[in-house]
Amino acid sequence: MADLSLFSNEQIAALLSALPDPAFILTRSGRYAAVFGGTDSRYYHDGSGLVGKTLDDVLHPEKAAWFQAQVAIALASQGLHVVEYALGRDDVKGIGTDGPEELIWFEGRVQTLGYQVLEEEAVLWVASNITASKKLEALLRMQSETDSLSNLPNRRKLMSSLTEHFELFARYKTPASVLIFDIDHFKSINDGQGHLAGDRTIAATADVCRRELRATDFPARLGGDEFVVLMPHTDSEQALPITERLRQRIAEQAGATISGGLSEMTAGDLSYEEVLKRADDALYCAKRDGRNRIVRS
Ligand code: GH3
Ligand code: MG
Repeated sequence: MADLSLFSNEQIAALLSALPDPAFILTRSGRYAAVFGGTDSRYYHDGSGLVGKTLDDVLHPEKAAWFQAQVAIALASQGLHVVEYALGRDDVKGIGTDGPEELIWFEGRVQTLGYQVLEEEAVLWVASNITASKKLEALLRMQSETDSLSNLPNRRKLMSSLTEHFELFARYKTPASVLIFDIDHFKSINDGQGHLAGDRTIAATADVCRRELRATDFPARLGGDEFVVLMPHTDSEQALPITERLRQRIAEQAGATISGGLSEMTAGDLSYEEVLKRADDALYCAKRDGRNRIVRS
């Protein structure tokens, strides 16, 4: 703890206002009793206009209620409460279309004060702008879940979606179908026209998937020339004509044919792996029976 007797009141005030991150004193009822700092103009607007206002004056009701709830949590804990939140121009009153289009992300460190302010319990709320690291985090997450050649979700993302939809099926009996397909004689494309032509065929196949499937369907690249399409809310009878149309479109537009195996989640399955295994067995039958076809398990 600093020896405050070394500083004059003016010096302490100057010190508080020099803090790069803004620090708000908020009372339990949601009044802004004081605002210090926020000098880093790369990240913050001048907050001094907030003093004397309430959360309800400044924020739209839902956001104001959320802030007030966080103040109450911090006060109940008698200590530090850390929160992450986003503010957009729809959250702040009177900004309209003038405000930034993007959401601004903050980490709020909300510390209970041991004394009353304006005859109320109060907290110190320090807000740090974390938008840049949030953006980086989102970009890295997206990259870790995307296959760079096809721009489709990769195997890792597919497995987490399959897990999620298998749980929905197990709990609520929500049907879901799974298609595995594999490009026919892909090796001869690589060998005859070169590896880059093979890559282009993979990318073109992915493009057809994006164009032809519904927004709720989930195509992914499993690896090599193998793809999976997860079709939520769809049993395999409904899925069959969709997969047939996809097969035809790929043959017309991607310069290669595909063979596929189609299966659906069924009551006896213990995990999505059993569904994938049935679809894979059906894919094997499609290859064996002459390729360029979909077989339903
Ligand atoms: P089938 O009709 O039985 O599927 O025959 P196929 O020739 O397609 O055989 P298979 O599916 O086993 O061959 C997949 C080939 O895909 C083998 C591998 O060299 C090639 N491959 C895997 N990943 C890539 C890739 O990213 N780019 C390219 N160009 N080729 C790849
Ligand atoms: Mg193949």
